[in-house]
Amino acid sequence: MSGGPGVSGPAVPGPVVHGPVVDDETRCIHYRSAVDVIAIKFACCGEYYPCHLCHAETAGHAAAQWPRAEWGERAILCGVCKHELTIADYLEVTACPACGAAFNEGCRLHSHLYFDAAAPLD
Ligand SMILES: [Zn+2]
Ligand SMILES: [Zn+2]
Ligand SMILES: [Zn+2]
Repeated sequence: MSGGPGVSGPAVPGPVVHGPVVDDETRCIHYRSAVDVIAIKFACCGEYYPCHLCHAETAGHAAAQWPRAEWGERAILCGVCKHELTIADYLEVTACPACGAAFNEGCRLHSHLYFDAAAPLD
């Protein structure tokens, strides 16, 4: 859906985030603590979702992980300032480099759901 005026979007413009988002900083019904402010663009559909559960419940297809070769893609959205980070950048920071918002370090436990974080096979 391109073109046409948006409906009542958030005050800060940014990519559309799909799924059961509960506020305009990309928190969702699954993860809504103070630091759950990022959304992830999924490799399978190129759409932003707040978390893997949102994708599973809303997208209607299995999630794909970003291959390491594509970690230069801007696939992480800071819900506070709408800055987009590359995957490689995101994995090296604990806060948004643009606005300083702290990111949930617990998300690292779920990295394999979004990124191909396993060691490459020879
Ligand atoms: Zn998808
Ligand atoms: Zn969610
Ligand atoms: Zn930010």
